[in-house]
Amino acid sequence: MDYGMIRKYEKAKQYAEETDRIEIQSMLVSFKGKNNPHTVELKGGQWHCDCSFFQTRGRCSHTMALELLFKDVLPEPTAP
Ligand SMILES: [Zn+2]
Repeated sequence: MDYGMIRKYEKAKQYAEETDRIEIQSMLVSFKGKNNPHTVELKGGQWHCDCSFFQTRGRCSHTMALELLFKDVLPEPTAP
């Protein structure tokens, strides 16, 4: 790594700890569920899942797992 890239890497490590600088706007996730794979998408600050539970309740174990995983870099979840 050249000096310029080392400086950038140092800055990146600092940014990675300053999570208030980052807000993920959209994301497409392939989720290996216990029974079936699911596609989970973050769009406009809201999670959407193709599982049947999500269709009736608007929130599911897959979306809640991703809320937990990315809690520092996503907008606050809204209760359904
Ligand atoms: Zn789901």
